[in-house]
Amino acid sequence: MIDAPGTFSNAAAAGEAMHALATELYPICRSITGNGVRETLRRLQAYIPLTVHEVPSGTQVFDWTVPREWNITDAYVKNSAGVRVIDFSECNLHVLGYSVPVRARMSLAELRPHLITLPEQADAIPYRTSYYNETWGFCLTHKQLASLPEDDYEVCIDSSLTDGHLTYGECYLQGDATEEVLISAHVCHPSLANDNLSGIVVATFLIRHLLTVPRRYSYRFLFVPGTIGSITWLALNEAHLSRIRHGLVLANVGDAGALTYKKSRHGNADVDRAALNTLRSSGNEYDVRPFTPYGYDERQFCSPGINLPVGCISRTPHGEFPEYHTSRDDLAFLKPGALGDSLAFCLAVLRVLEGNRVYVNQNPKCEPHLGRRGLYRGFGGSMDSKAREMALLWTLNLADGQHSLLDISDQSGIPYDTVKVAADALLEHGLLKE
Ligand code: ZN
Repeated sequence: MIDAPGTFSNAAAAGEAMHALATELYPICRSITGNGVRETLRRLQAYIPLTVHEVPSGTQVFDWTVPREWNITDAYVKNSAGVRVIDFSECNLHVLGYSVPVRARMSLAELRPHLITLPEQADAIPYRTSYYNETWGFCLTHKQLASLPEDDYEVCIDSSLTDGHLTYGECYLQGDATEEVLISAHVCHPSLANDNLSGIVVATFLIRHLLTVPRRYSYRFLFVPGTIGSITWLALNEAHLSRIRHGLVLANVGDAGALTYKKSRHGNADVDRAALNTLRSSGNEYDVRPFTPYGYDERQFCSPGINLPVGCISRTPHGEFPEYHTSRDDLAFLKPGALGDSLAFCLAVLRVLEGNRVYVNQNPKCEPHLGRRGLYRGFGGSMDSKAREMALLWTLNLADGQHSLLDISDQSGIPYDTVKVAADALLEHGLLKE
């Protein structure tokens, strides 16, 4: 069974360990294809049993085609004195993602159309890509651009764009049932911490925890490049999608902001209700958003022809923090405490889904005599007797074969964990049956 919130005492330690893993992965230059993703997945294999899949360029996946593979070894702009004034080896965000190779000399005026800055954040390097429009470019701080004099510049992007593969990772954990919970994180961003590494490390530590506990559901974790990766996986696995009962996308789960849950397209799927129920009883600030066809891979999982019950967990949503898609989304922006809290939240949601069942009261004609059975005492530890009694009464009353434990918690306003403890006690005394 997945730990109850009070007993998940390792959240803080897990937060530090997740931050350390993010630190290890941070320097790698990832993109939607290429060796950066391979290297990232290879390192994750030291932590979790991860299968790496390679899908050839040119593979048709629904309306999309797996692109050519992009790799890069070096890139720079040198001034006439031979000094690198823009240097990929200093920060991989300096190169526009998927830049085609270039070797040329040019004036500042010729170079300028290929330079991308963020005037409103003059100290930040923007993160930009051009996957489907062949071009090249450099990203730099606005300050850096302002300091570039007219000169004869040497421009080099030592990249390759060739037929190769799209690489993704998959981790399947067999449970008692063949029904699955799908959890995905995107792995396609270079040195950005909250946007991609936070989801990767929380998913990795979720797997590590799930490996140690009995599981009702089977779990399938995907580490995929955003958009094209989930589209590819869905296209190649369409025959198996009916097994997926619940799903979550993890993105931006490591900043200091409060938790945000974005509902699935269903809006009221069990995963949506489990997430809301958990947030409500957390006592912390949180935000809930309706589904929108924008964001991360929930866009694909919740497209009308796929329509899986997949929600998205974030802290501050994408685009709503100034560090988003800039060099300021760095390891200092990623908070160990927030990572630990996000992991604990994911586990709490999974615990609801794992334990949520429908029971039938075996003594439905008037209340059973609870005192005689000793049911007012001795469960739940810190729970006070009134809360315990209310949980028992609500559970007995709504256990009519129509209401799940989550329904009982939602309807009574009693935290799910309290209802679960009450149901387990009633079950033990033969007062409930599944
Ligand atoms: Zn992003």
